[in-house]
Amino acid sequence: MNSGEFSGTDVSQSDLHAMAYTDSLTGLGNSHRLRDKVRQLTLERADDPAPFAVGIVNLDGFKPINDLFGSQAGDEILCQVAHRLKACIPDGATVTRHGGDEFAFLFPLVFERKGAEKVAQMLREVLSAPFDLGDRNVRLSASFGLAIHPFAGEDFAELIKSADTALYRSKRRGRGQVTVYSQEIAQEMKRATHLEQALRDAITADQIDVHFQPIVNLKNDLVVGFEALARWCDADLGYVSPAAFVPLAEERGFIDALSEVLLRKAAEAALSWPKELFLSFNLSSAQLVDPKTSLTTLAILNRAGLDPRRLELEITETAVMTDAMTAQKIVGELRAAGVRVSLDDFGTGQSSLGRLRDFTFDKVKIDRAFVSRISDDRVSEHIIKAIVAMCDGLHLEVVAEGIEDFSEALKLKALGCGMGQGYFYGKPADAVATMRFLTERYLRVEPEAAFA
Ligand code: C2E
Ligand code: CA
Ligand code: CA
Repeated sequence: MNSGEFSGTDVSQSDLHAMAYTDSLTGLGNSHRLRDKVRQLTLERADDPAPFAVGIVNLDGFKPINDLFGSQAGDEILCQVAHRLKACIPDGATVTRHGGDEFAFLFPLVFERKGAEKVAQMLREVLSAPFDLGDRNVRLSASFGLAIHPFAGEDFAELIKSADTALYRSKRRGRGQVTVYSQEIAQEMKRATHLEQALRDAITADQIDVHFQPIVNLKNDLVVGFEALARWCDADLGYVSPAAFVPLAEERGFIDALSEVLLRKAAEAALSWPKELFLSFNLSSAQLVDPKTSLTTLAILNRAGLDPRRLELEITETAVMTDAMTAQKIVGELRAAGVRVSLDDFGTGQSSLGRLRDFTFDKVKIDRAFVSRISDDRVSEHIIKAIVAMCDGLHLEVVAEGIEDFSEALKLKALGCGMGQGYFYGKPADAVATMRFLTERYLRVEPEAAFA
């Protein structure tokens, strides 16, 4: 800003101007300030362009701390973060706060990926030291996303968008990660955008299907329920795995629309099954941070006419961890309506036994990674044995996932595992094939009891 712009009588206006460019909590500049700085730098270098870097940092797990210790403690941490960043950024760099627990940077002298990584890693270290809250110390990690001008964007908006994309990658890889927007990410984004459009079209055209995989009681091999698994076969793209398109729908913000279609179809199919069979449905992590999830889920069941007591929802620990309070509330409301909740992929990711104590689950699904190694790996066998014993003690049901052959089934039975699922008992199949499977394998046994 040109200092001669305001006359002496315009002090209040210049105060206002300063306020509009300042983050009131930390005293750092805000996003308007960073935008101006970036503009200014691009103008200065117009004749002799040299790359520079823009970055975003986001604290990992800040929200739970804010919820747990109160917003005053949260504000205190944010001020300490601001202070540290300001003290440690390289000469000539700018740090600003863009609301919440997000801060951003301009590094005029960082030209390339290695340099960007290095400065982010240094700042990550600086933020990893405990924050002093008077009566307690709190540790937080931080995730970084960086973008280099002009490759990752010509102007501020584009650069921030690229840095944000890089940050999202960091978050997806875990805590405390640093990502610089690269050629590969740009290409991946292009592919993802193409995939997103195709997926949105497929939802509208009702081309997303649900398949069902049997879950059996390992004592007598009888089917007790089915897990619903999303299926999409696109005319151009061919078969696309739900492990790819579900996270994409989450990332691009339309998981609700996708999940609604899936649950409606699954619930409608389950209506034709014998009443004692349950439907197990996967909730995505994004749905566990959305307080509307319990209401929408129950409304879909209600419209379809499926008793909530026949529904189980599979959730993962990673999903629970993002925002434990909201997740707890959603699960509480659903359980109050009779829906049961299973902990999916147990033993992978950020496993914490504390979760089983603090959170109310009805069932634990042991991840396929342990089951597939059970035949030739004593360690996996011991782990499964321990999980089964623990679940017995906690009155939780146990399902072993990914049973592929007879010997695995035998071992799991011997270990006292209650339920099983996997190709050995049945591959996921569409609604029609599932009905056929039931008529042949289930209804044939006890047709009257089944429909009682
Ligand atoms: P998941 O929830 O762990 O689902 C189990 C996956 O293991 C499924 O893969 C299933 O087809 C596969 N599977 C089952 N038995 C066996 C076996 O014996 N051997 C092997 N190798 N694999 C087996 P799928 O259908 O590709 O789904 C992948 C993931 O996508 C799921 O993992 C789940 O996280 C997600 N997903 C699928 N459908 C939905 C959905 O409707 N909503 C949400 N939010 N996520 C879904
Ligand atoms: Ca699952
Ligand atoms: Ca699983």
